[in-house]
Amino acid sequence: MQTTMIPAAPARLQPTGWQQHWREAIRDPRELLSLLGLQALAGVSEAAAAQFPLRVPRGFAARMRHGDPHDPLLRQVLPLDAELRPAPGFSLDAVGDAAARAGHGVLHKYAGRALLVATGSCAIHCRYCFRRHFPYAEETAAAAGWRAAVAAIRADHSLHEVILSGGDPLSLATPKLAELTDALAAIPHVRRLRIHTRLPVVLPERVDDALLAWLSALPWPVVVVLHANHANEFGAGVDAATAALRARGATLLNQAVLLRGVNDSLEAQAALHERGFAAGVLPYYLHQLDRVAGAAHFEVPDDEARALHEAMRMRLPGYLLPRLVREVAGDGSKRPL
Ligand code: SF4
Repeated sequence: MQTTMIPAAPARLQPTGWQQHWREAIRDPRELLSLLGLQALAGVSEAAAAQFPLRVPRGFAARMRHGDPHDPLLRQVLPLDAELRPAPGFSLDAVGDAAARAGHGVLHKYAGRALLVATGSCAIHCRYCFRRHFPYAEETAAAAGWRAAVAAIRADHSLHEVILSGGDPLSLATPKLAELTDALAAIPHVRRLRIHTRLPVVLPERVDDALLAWLSALPWPVVVVLHANHANEFGAGVDAATAALRARGATLLNQAVLLRGVNDSLEAQAALHERGFAAGVLPYYLHQLDRVAGAAHFEVPDDEARALHEAMRMRLPGYLLPRLVREVAGDGSKRPL
């Protein structure tokens, strides 16, 4: 008997798990509010959403508290009128990235390290993001097929660490990441790889078998710097993702941004770092907000930030105390407060 074979779709057209979740992200503020049982909220702005669209993976939205307009995860993603008010000292390129460009997609700001802007895409759009105005279309290394970025790193023998950043570098498909790391592996002076990513937190499905196989095969020690700002961002899916990353030998650190209304209390900070530790993640930096246009309503004054950090020092063991820093354009390292 002859059976009719149905040809499989080409691999590039088959939705894989994480890419399906990516595509299904919430993009409409009204849908997000309705899922949370909230009616129209004062201050929510379509004009702000038009400037920088809302984008939230459904799994992340599921970690928001139902019916709470002040939920700390909701506050990080909801476009508000406040973003449109001009604020003195807040600008489009708050951290001096424009001046630090050393080649297509490569930022060279700190000794020995090259930051490679791998992509402009993110699974989530954080309203306080310091790169919300960055010219990604011109400046991502992937856009030039990595060639210019890899050549810039190869030519500078002082560079020992490559930092994959973005956007979110893990938003690239795994074969694309492998293409880049294969090229970097041929550069003898590269000794470490660092990956700055929020994906294992906001869309833990990204940590799939293919990504883990790629990670296991890398020839360098790998540091994965996550980005979580509140303990509620963790959950069973995130725990599984961090455990899998650690099992492949990655060192996991977390950087958070100090945000008014999200994590500007001792309780919120202590809970964040303790919850991160339970997921195998050590705190690295607590950033003072980059003064990017549209984010002024998240700012916590330096004096208050220092007092909070001092209270954290009294509450937390030393290994759970992140360094409180600010990025200052032109500085050779993050500036401790
Ligand atoms: S994930 Fe990171 S780069 Fe992307 S919007 Fe959020 S803060 Fe910005």
